[in-house]
Amino acid sequence: MSKIVFFCIPAHGHTNPTLGVVRELVSRGYEVWYYSYNMMREKIESAGAKFISCDDYDMEAKLCAKDSARIGKDIAFSTKILVDTTLSLDDKVCREMAELKPDCIVADSMALWGKAVAMKLGIPFVSSTTTFAFNRHSAKIMKQGVGDLFRMLFAIPKTAKEIKRLQNKGYPVKSVLDIIGNDENAHTIVYTSPEFQPCSETFSEKFAFVGPSIRPATEQIERTREKLVYISMGTVNNDMMPFYKSCISALENTEYQVIMSVGSQVSLDVFGTLPENISVCSHVDQIAVLEKADVFVSHCGMNSVSESLYFEVPLVMLPQTSEQKGVAERVLQLGAGLKPKKADGTSVLNGINKIISDSSYKKNAAKIAEGFKASSGAKGAADKIIKVCGEKV
Ligand code: UDP
Repeated sequence: MSKIVFFCIPAHGHTNPTLGVVRELVSRGYEVWYYSYNMMREKIESAGAKFISCDDYDMEAKLCAKDSARIGKDIAFSTKILVDTTLSLDDKVCREMAELKPDCIVADSMALWGKAVAMKLGIPFVSSTTTFAFNRHSAKIMKQGVGDLFRMLFAIPKTAKEIKRLQNKGYPVKSVLDIIGNDENAHTIVYTSPEFQPCSETFSEKFAFVGPSIRPATEQIERTREKLVYISMGTVNNDMMPFYKSCISALENTEYQVIMSVGSQVSLDVFGTLPENISVCSHVDQIAVLEKADVFVSHCGMNSVSESLYFEVPLVMLPQTSEQKGVAERVLQLGAGLKPKKADGTSVLNGINKIISDSSYKKNAAKIAEGFKASSGAKGAADKIIKVCGEKV
């Protein structure tokens, strides 16, 4: 039986979709090791993988607040931090890979160190992509890319020094493009359906569009009104107190039941006494909420959008990053949500009212859900990995 090693970054949105795949591999008798961070330990172990902590080697965690804010915006600086992390993990991971002799490495598209070590040691590799796959065709549809591509090309000379540091440690990397972003030649698992992925027909057969991986709900949500509105800005950039307060003011005298997940960066005490129809939590079982919700007010992280559409819930979309803007653009094109001009309570309420009064949003969400449910899922992702290991499925 093949041995498989996963690498991921410390983000729920990147980890969650892989857990079903881990469960599927383990249930078929494969051994799975998972390099990640202590905050993910419990969920990774409960999926059945052996957890290996990378916390001591996380160079991003050691940055001051000012430098942290540059990650993702300044490509040259981001590359430096990714290379620092790769090199700090180098001894440990190379030694452990030599002992383990895995048949395949599966690495999140942002866990550069997973791909780099697969290249260095000649281990078969699968990229795990929790956003849309990116090429010049899909970039056009998502109305992004030209700016992003330009920023990337502009940064290449600035990253030469970092690439040299990798080469000096035996990594056969020629350019930053070899390791960041989508590689059209790498075997790639994409957690969306071919119908939702823009221009899926322009990607090679190395790409497996397996559909979103939806974990089961573990709680029961009580419905107290006829219509339920769910609000969440995700788990990363969710420190948005003025926005939450503005939503409470706009929604307090409506007929809607409102559940708002605000993350752990804001204190729940600051909300004081809440109106009877609104509840606020640091974290909810999002799947349980979406099973019952009528509208989702979301930041448009890929997982949140996929989960919402899977349960046929249309979206009021307030994307923050360029990746989230691309996802929102696709939902707009397919008519399963709308994007208010302003991110305030009144605009959000107008958006919710429009979605509830116009059934086309729900119908279009249901169409996308159909494609998700027809996709090969965690089973298809596991088949892909096993084939890359050189085994017959
Ligand atoms: N999530 C959750 N409860 C919450 C908020 C978020 O379970 O209260 C989960 C959500 O179901 C999704 C993930 O966290 O799987 C968020 O991922 P996404 O890609 O939407 O956004 P990110 O947090 O990475 O910006």
